[in-house]
Amino acid sequence: MNKKKEDPVKDRAALVTSAKKEYGGLDRFRMAAAILVVAIHTAPLVSYSETGDMILTGILARVAVPFFFMVTGFFLLSKERLTDFSYRNFFLKNAKLYALAVLLYLPLNFYAGHFSEGDSFTGFLQDLVFDGTFYHLWYFPGVLLGTGLLILLIRRLSGKGVLTVVLTLYLIGVLGDSYYGIASQWAPIASFYEFLFHFFDYTRNGLFFAPVFLFLGARLADKKESPVVNVSLRNLWISLSLMVLEGFLLHTFSHPRHDSMYMMLLPSMYFLFQTLIALRGKGHPEMRSIAAAVYVIHPWCIVLIRGIAKFTGTQSLLVNNSLIHFLLTALLSLLLSCLFRKLWISARAIEKGALAEEDPTGRAWSEIHLPSLQHNVKELQSLLPEECKIMAVVKANAYGHGDCRIAAELQRIGITSFAVASLKEGIRLRQYGIKGSILILGYTIPEDAEQLNKYGLTQTVVDYAYAEALDRMGQKINVHLKVDTGMHRLGEDWGHLERFSQILKFNNLTIHGIYTHLCSADSLSADDIFYTTKQIRNFYQVVRYLLSKGCSLPEVHIQSSYGVLNYPQLECTHARLGIALYGCLSEEKAGTRLDASLKPLLSVRSRVSIVKELSPKESLGYGRTFIAETPMKIAGISVGYADGVPRDLTGGYVLINGKRAPIIGRICMDQLTVDVSEIPEVRQGDIATIIGRDGEEVITAEQVAGWSGTIANEILSRLGNRLERIYKEK
Ligand SMILES: *Cc1c(COP(=O)(O)O)cnc(C)c1O
Repeated sequence: MNKKKEDPVKDRAALVTSAKKEYGGLDRFRMAAAILVVAIHTAPLVSYSETGDMILTGILARVAVPFFFMVTGFFLLSKERLTDFSYRNFFLKNAKLYALAVLLYLPLNFYAGHFSEGDSFTGFLQDLVFDGTFYHLWYFPGVLLGTGLLILLIRRLSGKGVLTVVLTLYLIGVLGDSYYGIASQWAPIASFYEFLFHFFDYTRNGLFFAPVFLFLGARLADKKESPVVNVSLRNLWISLSLMVLEGFLLHTFSHPRHDSMYMMLLPSMYFLFQTLIALRGKGHPEMRSIAAAVYVIHPWCIVLIRGIAKFTGTQSLLVNNSLIHFLLTALLSLLLSCLFRKLWISARAIEKGALAEEDPTGRAWSEIHLPSLQHNVKELQSLLPEECKIMAVVKANAYGHGDCRIAAELQRIGITSFAVASLKEGIRLRQYGIKGSILILGYTIPEDAEQLNKYGLTQTVVDYAYAEALDRMGQKINVHLKVDTGMHRLGEDWGHLERFSQILKFNNLTIHGIYTHLCSADSLSADDIFYTTKQIRNFYQVVRYLLSKGCSLPEVHIQSSYGVLNYPQLECTHARLGIALYGCLSEEKAGTRLDASLKPLLSVRSRVSIVKELSPKESLGYGRTFIAETPMKIAGISVGYADGVPRDLTGGYVLINGKRAPIIGRICMDQLTVDVSEIPEVRQGDIATIIGRDGEEVITAEQVAGWSGTIANEILSRLGNRLERIYKEK
């Protein structure tokens, strides 16, 4: 079996490109749309027929910009994509481009006298937010404002609600655009628009124009069945014809303020986009950047061509003939765009060469299989009474699995309660965007009360004195009371009922829950069962006492992983699950009352760094603890105790090519050595599995724990930060 073929990172890259490749129709139309925008700004037919030009640039070419909005909606804002859409990144990327474009057009703005004394700073700001500082640049603030607005709507309203709002906005836009001549006949409407036009020059902007097209694009991406080309095409012709008729009538019989927006533009765009999706074909990623560049630079090309014509005295040919003027502008824009793209690519290549991204699977790494997390959540939830929910324990970097990513995945599949060990861990999750409750299981110094409050973290009250100190900090804090029922670690003693009722009097502490921890729930010996039963009884005595004092205790929890497997039916609102969520138990042969079919998430892999021969009597490694008895073949593996492999691992092995290779000699900080005499085909660079499956063979975290006299919890949580984590979604 050739493991290298399974390189997860490359798989993902292939996946992404193959998903995008399918929309060749969209890529090709990007070019067409960019050229249509050039046409709008150069009026190609005006030398021949005013009406012809009006139909081309005032009506038909108006599909171009909505198309670009729909592309954004289609690729970024579908239900599926929206979950990992980062508005911040989107904003930064587009704002950067916008800033560059604004700079690019500053000279022309100065030349045209736009920033002369008459123009105020607020005027410039308005331009920046709505009109774009140069006539075509409104697209950037438009897409930013429109996307932000649409996301807000989607988060707050149902699909129908969003549609209603974006259609209403569009309607307001249309009445201020091509229908303005008709709408403004009525005085109240005229004064309404007069008010609006204090803020922007056109209703064709991020507020009234962009949202509906972004939304249509997103909805088309959500549709599962693929459209039929013929039907879409027929609908497209019908809507386009009606749009031409609509535009023609408006231009002939009224005075449009502008001609970007028509009623029939909505169905036209919908069916145009649907047709383009149906066309599929091979993708043309190069067209995406070229079309964008044409859009940005063509006004400069118009100026350049006029300049050249003036300089050479060829105005009558190059400028006065509208068709030639258009063709030259389009050609120059295309040429410059291709040139920019070439330069940009070579600049990127140089940059990449300098900071080459290393392969995360180059030395030693861990792979985390996210679907197994969902499986374990379902499996464990099925063991619990329905009203008892999972509180996911993601302390210690989610037992070495990476707390932010694991918590985000849990949040995605519906978990709303989390537990961590420390304040820092809680803050990290909040900063990563984890919602829901986060309980800190450990001690937080009272001086950090402000942070608890600021990040909305729930603190464990470890005893009465602590409650008093925390209350004194004057911060409103949510707490869970911890009861020591016999573990003698954290918690106020269960017998001190008075003290519990005194905690109720602290005004700054809101008691959200109460819990205890069992110290031998993993054992099924009669003694331990007796002790655990006593702990549970002690706990409920405190709970009943507090309830009788009028305290409300919305959350009550006792069990951790073994608690659930051995005492599943307790009356609790939550179970604090750690190790079992990650698909492991602490030890290999600990029997439990319930048997859950859990799947481990994590594998640890490394590379064979060297293959050598060892002759009889030759020693190996530090302290010469291993002496060869027969000629043997050995292999160095690039992983060591600094990566989390225990130094005292004895009798352990790793897997190479689906076979066991016993670990020999002392484990070093960064490497270890294995006996590969039985695996003759081993080569430098091969993958070695420390934990996980390789072919038919598996090494579990519990096994590794057993070889070094500890529990899987320790093995997982001590995995070093030097291991790069690779998350697998399939
Ligand atoms: C770590 C911890 C848990 C989770 O324990 P597992 O055995 O990993 O499920 C639950 N409760 C408390 C108080 C803990 O410290």
